[in-house]
Amino acid sequence: MVLIPKRRRKTLYDELKRHLREVFHDLARRKESQIIEGHMMADHVHMLISIPEPRMPDNTTKSCASCGLAPRPFDSVLYGSYGGPSRLLCGRCFNLEAARRRGLVDFEHIDFEPSTMSDARGREHVLQFRTHLFAGGVTIDAIERNEDQSESYWFKLIGNEEGDLFELLARLVTKMRQELACTHLEEGAYGLQINDRGIVRARIESDPEGKTDMPAVVIDGRNISWGEFGRMVATYMGFQFKLQLRDLSDDI
Ligand SMILES: [Zn+2]
Repeated sequence: MVLIPKRRRKTLYDELKRHLREVFHDLARRKESQIIEGHMMADHVHMLISIPEPRMPDNTTKSCASCGLAPRPFDSVLYGSYGGPSRLLCGRCFNLEAARRRGLVDFEHIDFEPSTMSDARGREHVLQFRTHLFAGGVTIDAIERNEDQSESYWFKLIGNEEGDLFELLARLVTKMRQELACTHLEEGAYGLQINDRGIVRARIESDPEGKTDMPAVVIDGRNISWGEFGRMVATYMGFQFKLQLRDLSDDI
């Protein structure tokens, strides 16, 4: 993608560049996309963006354009630049290509084995790992998928692209243990309610049933509709609360 200021004036200087860099990364993240490469010139901006494939059913016949294998449903990337053809790549081939383009000769893609962990209620969760290179470094995601292909628990960390992936994984596993041990909801007489701590940490997701434009919130790995969440806070009439939006890789 190439962005050009009006009449191609040379208006993109240091402070503005820094600001725009943050804005572009933020916008990409909101669409679950990542900027793989970006170059800011005085009069134009050049970006290569990876966009995840929309959720595909398990019996999908789409295969990776490079190795020919079917990518895992949460680990396929549409790779291409604006206006040109795009190719569907599996996570491994995507990383190898991204590393080659950026001259990261030492980058080694690792497929981590899924991990099973228990939450505070003793329920087991199978988390699958996904590693992607992007312009800001490397991300590892740990994703639990429901039968309907929606995501339940989802953890993420961002590391240095030249750092040790096993060290990043170890930090992610620590974060997963801490967050799984901490619950926010409990069963009450009238269904799910916010527990005594009075704190809710949630992830904003698209509604798995897709019937409305309203998002779902995922709390304790459960999809909660906006209406259900409204019912949960209805018992706190007259209270106040703070809503702080943070990236999935941040500690909250
Ligand atoms: Zn592949």
